[in-house]
Amino acid sequence: MKFEDIRRKVIETGLKMLNMKLVVGTWGNISARIPGEDLIAITPSGVDYERISPNDIVLLDMKGKVIDGHLKPSIEWPLHVAVYNNRYDVNAVVHTHSTFCTAMAMARKRIPAAVEDLVQIVGGDVRVSEYFLPGTKELGQAAVKALEGRNAVILANHGCLGAGPDLNETFKIVCVVEKAAKATIFAQILGGAVELEEDDIDFMRDFYLNKYGQR
Ligand SMILES: [Zn+2]
Repeated sequence: MKFEDIRRKVIETGLKMLNMKLVVGTWGNISARIPGEDLIAITPSGVDYERISPNDIVLLDMKGKVIDGHLKPSIEWPLHVAVYNNRYDVNAVVHTHSTFCTAMAMARKRIPAAVEDLVQIVGGDVRVSEYFLPGTKELGQAAVKALEGRNAVILANHGCLGAGPDLNETFKIVCVVEKAAKATIFAQILGGAVELEEDDIDFMRDFYLNKYGQR
């Protein structure tokens, strides 16, 4: 089987997403860019994460055409393809229906840039994209617009999308965004979140991208 490693990593990320309760059942979807190819590997539509095997992962070209796979790709493939075609820094997309992000999505409220780990990993606040029906090209375009300069977006009345350099980092992004969504709702009870200054956000983002961790 071609690209078995990356197909396995897509499935592992799906299981982590399920175990962290970021999705229920078969909802949510995951994809990764295949290095050196104009292809992405994406989860199939409506198959339990526990039952997906590597050959169930669908390979699409950058127009969404199925290149390899015996199942239908996730209905959100236009959303994934739109992100890859507009963001060359993105190699993985994780789309969740996590509870607190869904609350923000229902209220159509952005997550303010008010907590350090969020601004480090996402690059600022998390905006809400304009509402469009699931699976539409328009949803993809709206998500790309609201994702500008960020690694995550809230899809109105729907959920969260994280877009990052690889699957591990993108999974971390959707977890941090979910935590920030939860904390934002609690902060609201305490009188509202106080946003960080732009200079401080830029400093922390740069530190995270260039200096953080064991280098
Ligand atoms: Zn969805």
